[in-house]
Amino acid sequence: MKSGKMVKITFLGTGGGRVVVINQLRATGGWILEMDDQMFHIDPGPGALARAREYGVPLRKVTGIIISHPHPDHYADAEMVVEAMTIGVNKKRGVIIGGKNVIKGGEKHRAVFSPYHLNAVERYEILEPGKETKTSNIKIRATPVKHGDSEGVGFVFEGERNRIGYTSDGEYFDGQEKYFTNCDVLVINCLRPRGDSWPEHMDSEQAKELIVKTRPKAAVLKHFGTKMLRGVAEKEAAWIEKETGIRTIAARDGMVLEIKNEKIEISKSGGKGGGSLEGFLK
Ligand SMILES: [Zn+2]
Repeated sequence: MKSGKMVKITFLGTGGGRVVVINQLRATGGWILEMDDQMFHIDPGPGALARAREYGVPLRKVTGIIISHPHPDHYADAEMVVEAMTIGVNKKRGVIIGGKNVIKGGEKHRAVFSPYHLNAVERYEILEPGKETKTSNIKIRATPVKHGDSEGVGFVFEGERNRIGYTSDGEYFDGQEKYFTNCDVLVINCLRPRGDSWPEHMDSEQAKELIVKTRPKAAVLKHFGTKMLRGVAEKEAAWIEKETGIRTIAARDGMVLEIKNEKIEISKSGGKGGGSLEGFLK
């Protein structure tokens, strides 16, 4: 991508929740943010390499691996993305940025990267909630989350012209909106539909709350559990859009969103999604 004028986001997965992840009812490869001269792979979960191949993303071009928290649906392929980024650990390049337990390991989860892989990159960094770092010309801020991993974070990426927010996992909490002001695109992990909430995860009622308070140019929902499949996520997105007047998109596996000259467009709509367990578990 040329000279800081475009943003391209490719969704290598839109699945979340145990049943969806284990059975791969939706893919779980994380998402790719190309902004200015950088390419970030965010939360490369199970199948990230295979999905990158499927959706035409050359992972050798990744310049940063960004991980919100050490739950396996967010990091399972992370070391393999290091190998791709460093051409098989032959060339020291790229950065790793993550919440504290991603790098150090926590009480319940181990550190995501081996010393070998941490050593393979130019720089790795723990980013605590509210803290900011910079890689190339992009500022990356960590936002707090209300989720099982208390050291987990969301992120805001701020390039020359655009600002992209990512809630990561977690339920809406009072004041969350102040971290995501003025986003062009806000990516929200929205596990469930409204009226069917689950602790420490967002449902579409809460997503609506966050969207109406932050007013991004567009919001994208992903990380869907079984209750969001078979067209439900699309209905929830349409409901949020109607209630808030803000464009809201239910992501599909392989969907590509671009910002060109301030215009946000879906340049690839991605797969049909909405997998079913019928006949699969027999
Ligand atoms: Zn999680």
